[in-house]
Amino acid sequence: MKELTHFINGEHVKGTSGRFTEVFNPATGEAIAKVPLATVEELNDAVAKAAEAQKAWAATNPQRRARVMMKFGALINEHMDELAELVSLEHGKTLPDGRGDVQRGLEVIEVCMGAPSLLKGEYTDDGGPGIDLYSMRQPLGVVAGITPFNFPAMIPLWKMGPALACGNAMILKPSERCPSTSLRLAELVMEAGLPAGVLQVVNGDKEVVDAILDNETVQGVGFVGSTPIAQYIYGRAAANGKRAQCFGGAKNHMIIMPDADMDKAADALVGAGFGAAGERCMAISVAVPVGEATADALIERLVPRIEKLKVGPYTAGEDVDYGPVITGAAKARIDGLVDSGVEQGAKLVVDGRGFKMQGYENGFFVGPSLFDNVTPEMDIYKEEIFGPVLSQVRTSSYDEALNLVIDNPYGNGTAIFTADGDTARDFAHRVNVGMVGINFPIPVPLSYHTFGGWKKSAFGDLNQYGPDAFRFYTKTKTVTARWFSGIKDGSQFNFKAMD
Ligand code: NAD
Repeated sequence: MKELTHFINGEHVKGTSGRFTEVFNPATGEAIAKVPLATVEELNDAVAKAAEAQKAWAATNPQRRARVMMKFGALINEHMDELAELVSLEHGKTLPDGRGDVQRGLEVIEVCMGAPSLLKGEYTDDGGPGIDLYSMRQPLGVVAGITPFNFPAMIPLWKMGPALACGNAMILKPSERCPSTSLRLAELVMEAGLPAGVLQVVNGDKEVVDAILDNETVQGVGFVGSTPIAQYIYGRAAANGKRAQCFGGAKNHMIIMPDADMDKAADALVGAGFGAAGERCMAISVAVPVGEATADALIERLVPRIEKLKVGPYTAGEDVDYGPVITGAAKARIDGLVDSGVEQGAKLVVDGRGFKMQGYENGFFVGPSLFDNVTPEMDIYKEEIFGPVLSQVRTSSYDEALNLVIDNPYGNGTAIFTADGDTARDFAHRVNVGMVGINFPIPVPLSYHTFGGWKKSAFGDLNQYGPDAFRFYTKTKTVTARWFSGIKDGSQFNFKAMD
């Protein structure tokens, strides 16, 4: 079995801990590689080397750093298909989804090419008599990115792009389920001109994450993953005096008003609910129609669309709708939650249980499920299922639907489908969720805006990518200056001495 490595000081380095975890091809259920789980010593060594390399990188002017980003972007483009295949192999998502994963990461690298503009400081001329003020943005030093399995290219790129463009060195700890894409990206960013040691990929599990959180040299932590781990990491990083932004899980609702275009709403729900097997933090997992007639019209349209979904391995062609889930344990958990929905009284309209993919019987495939008559007390409503399961909660008014979203503990994304501008506008203003779609089911902001949830979907301050990332990965220093030397007419200088 292939043995993966860490990537330290520009080289692939074997793990020394003797501890490994298996990386699977979720479509076949086969273990295809083993990834080393780093020790505290390995992590501390990688951080010390990163700190050394960071000094020269921070002294490299922003325009030169931006040029590395430009070349990195070109290399990502050149290797798009190879990277997408690596994503799909270890994650299971379809090839178009794999390319989308790389593309959305690349878009953040493209914004990082504008680092000189984004890092410009502020200046006040004559803030007092002869007094000028200016502020500058300086890198934090060594920072860490800890990333989840579900976007093996995009989220590592969201972390490394802004961190490196700002002059930091980064310890990237990718998900142990899909580590190969990060290792390949590390090779490519080196090829683009990043000096050795400025990006270190350290593989591992909780042991190495705790070592990152306790290492005094690490100044900032950007985490993306599930809510309990996000909250834990935020608490421990903050207690150790680090800057931290930790993005967590989600339960995203889509409200469908009676005046919405029902066909478009149904299409959107199927794409946003079942795409990437529901393993997106911005997936819509709850449909909230307003009125019984809306709910019935929606079910009538959803069922045939869901029954037509083509589930399969990424190798089966571009028309596959979604692939397997990440592990056997994830599949068992999703099946268990569907069972609980039935036991707790929801109406299972489309039953994905017991789905077997012909020729891939050991793969982690899960059939699509649709529930109607779901209520907020049920586990399928309370839990982030992170699988191809859509729940419909019926409501009788816009206010009831809005309050359902407001009362939900998560606040990552939400959407409303309606033909009425006033209702949409009211929703956008009143809802306590970070990213809002109007007739748009997955409102992931473009790379020059910023991405971040509210409530239990994010801990800490500032969002990911865009201008916020440049704030997160830099410290502001403000200088107040005046001079007492007086204005010279030139005769005071001894020009001979300066020859
Ligand atoms: P996860 O929380 O299990 O793992 C994320 C990272 O944390 C991994 O690198 C993992 O090795 C590490 N980790 C896991 N357990 C740990 C522990 N006990 N202590 C320290 N570190 C630990 O998440 P996942 O299953 O890889 O990803 C799916 C989750 O990520 C979902 O909840 C999804 O909603 C969320 N997510 C959120 C966003 C967002 O921007 N809000 C984006 C993508 C995914």
